[in-house]
Amino acid sequence: MKELEERILKDGIVIGPNILKVDSFLNQQIDAKLIHKMGEEFAAYFKDKNIDKVLTVESSGIAPALATALELEVNCVFARKKQSLTTSEDVYHSSVYSFTKQVTNELIVDKNFLKEGENILMIDDFLANGQAAKGMVALCRQAGANPVGLGIVVEKSFSDGRALVEEMGVDIYSLARIAKLEEGKITFVGE
Ligand code: 5GP
Repeated sequence: MKELEERILKDGIVIGPNILKVDSFLNQQIDAKLIHKMGEEFAAYFKDKNIDKVLTVESSGIAPALATALELEVNCVFARKKQSLTTSEDVYHSSVYSFTKQVTNELIVDKNFLKEGENILMIDDFLANGQAAKGMVALCRQAGANPVGLGIVVEKSFSDGRALVEEMGVDIYSLARIAKLEEGKITFVGE
């Protein structure tokens, strides 16, 4: 997505090692118009997959997931990283190790919101080592739902995530694919 690549070049900040900060339009302040266009892109790519629901992880996946769900006219569910007072006891959960934050999070979804046989489109802000995606696939499988696609805003293609997700038989579509993040310079795949 050209507009996203241009925005990453303009406002993205490389913080070592291999981490891209995009707080000004995705991870803290949210550029609503850009997110809307991301939703249109994901929806156009996955429109023939009979998607029943969009699944993401709180918090940064929620904006692009909601924009996509609006376009596909389906609901959006986000996995919580912490059990809240209002979360029911009857949940699916999977453990996800974040290399970025060096912590293990539990992904938790109420069993009422993922159902057997549903076709699930998973959306996340970044794909690095694929652990968050693997956690979402595990939640779908526990529910007997079909994880049919993964939409990623920024893929760090120098990491192992894509291979892991493809091995699980999930179709991936990334809006921006980064080949290198070196010495403050961002290079996209194909450049
Ligand atoms: P993975 O589970 O694929 O290793 O990492 C994906 C998760 O880690 C994303 O949900 C995102 O929150 C975070 N993440 C990984 N790399 C980056 C990065 O370079 N920048 C930011 N902002 N988040 C990242």
